[in-house]
Amino acid sequence: MNDDQFEQLDCSAVVADIWLLLDNECDAGARTRLQGHLDGCPSCFEHYGIQRELKALISRKCGGDAAPEGLRERLRLEIRRSVTIRRTL
Ligand SMILES: [Zn+2]
Repeated sequence: MNDDQFEQLDCSAVVADIWLLLDNECDAGARTRLQGHLDGCPSCFEHYGIQRELKALISRKCGGDAAPEGLRERLRLEIRRSVTIRRTL
């Protein structure tokens, strides 16, 4: 098996699975595939970074429980804005 045969994941599938990765709810094979994709795909990697920060923020603010959808959405927008600012500086 060489790099040319490396399985290409669809970005939308990766984005959908990022929460599973962050919650440690995917098996080792799926984790390897996702991380392999993140290493080679800047847009998915950025999305992963945003979700990771979001998850950390939510667990700090809410003691680890799931945040209300409104809060999660607001934090997502805030983090996305700060990431965008950081990239343009
Ligand atoms: Zn991707």
